[in-house]
Parts: sequence; structure tokens; C-alpha cells
Amino acid sequence: TATRELLLSRIRDVPDHPKPGVVFKDITPLLADPEAFAALTGALAELCTRFGATKIVGLEARGFILAAPVAVSAGVGFIPVRKAGKLPGATLRQAYELEYGTAEIEVHAEDLAPGDRVLVIDDVLATGGTAEASLDLIRRAGAEVAGVVVLMELGFLGGRARLEPALRGAPLEAI
Ligand code: IMP
Repeated sequence: TATRELLLSRIRDVPDHPKPGVVFKDITPLLADPEAFAALTGALAELCTRFGATKIVGLEARGFILAAPVAVSAGVGFIPVRKAGKLPGATLRQAYELEYGTAEIEVHAEDLAPGDRVLVIDDVLATGGTAEASLDLIRRAGAEVAGVVVLMELGFLGGRARLEPALRGAPLEAI
């Protein structure tokens, strides 16, 4: 579609970032273009409504930027999932595997509860580890996963296959 073409044209490939051999997908040109950012927000809000989500989780840090305006537009709450050690209140914490070593993410325990249907938003799905861990957090809180939506999926990293079991039939969409 025209919207998709516009959005993808505003994502910049940065070779050798953050380390040699990696091509980093940089969304800052999209954020700086009000027409593109509004089109993205609208498309994500539509999916939020279609999936019947009652809350939106944004994954630190670029997921926050995309998820916040969608939450306002769709009329649902925004919940930050942060790297461990940042949130001040009582949290649920989930570890996951990285290429080298492990990482941990957290959510405020009081932000998610049984009865919530939660949409996860992030900029890029790479290996799928972060998104998978966020689904674990949502389920551990007793809430339901409405779906996962990313701006862009790096197909060659196999994130969709890794995420598939954790989705339990919930949709994974890239714009
Ligand atoms: P994953 O856990 O391997 O799927 O990595 C996903 C996380 O890393 C997301 O929160 C992304 O924001 C970030 N990430 C990985 N690769 C890129 C990239 O090329 N551009 C922007 N973010 C990336």
C-alpha cells in the first residue's frame, strides 16, 4: 500500500551499527516526518481496535515512542515494559536469551491484570527474544495477549519462528 511504502521509505539503513556487520534500521527519519508518523500511528491504532486490545505495552525504548500516541488515539492505557532496574514500583521480571548472555525486562505488576487484552508494540522484531519475554510477563500477570505489532520484521533473524509458540494463536503483524 501507499502508506507502507511511505513508512518504509522513512527507515534508514545504518551499516555497522551498533557493531561491525550489523545493518541497523533507524526509524528517526520517520519520527521526524509528521505525515509518516501520523500515518503509522493511525495504522497501529486501527490494528489495536481490530485486535480488541484494552491496553498497549510498549517495549523500551523505541517501542515507547510508537506505542504512546497509539494508546491515546485508540483510547487505551499505555504500559511501559522496561529494562530491569528502571521501574520504581513492585515489578514482574523476565529473563531471556541474547546472542551472547541474557537480558531482563520488567513491568509494574499493578499495570496488568486478568481481563486485560494486551497489544505489544515495538519498532523492530529481530530475534524475537524481547517480544517473547514481554508475552511471558503479560501471561504471568494473568492478562491475555491480543497481538504483537512491529513496524518492521527482520525476517532473516527468525524472530517470527521463535515467537510463534508464545503467541498461542495471537496475531503477529508487521506494518
Ligand atoms: P530482539 O529481541 O532480538 O527481537 O531485538 C529486538 C529489540 O532490539 C527491539 O526492542 C528493537 O528495538 C531492537 N533492535 C534490534 N535490531 C534493531 C534495528 O536494526 N533497529 C532498531 N532496533 C533494533
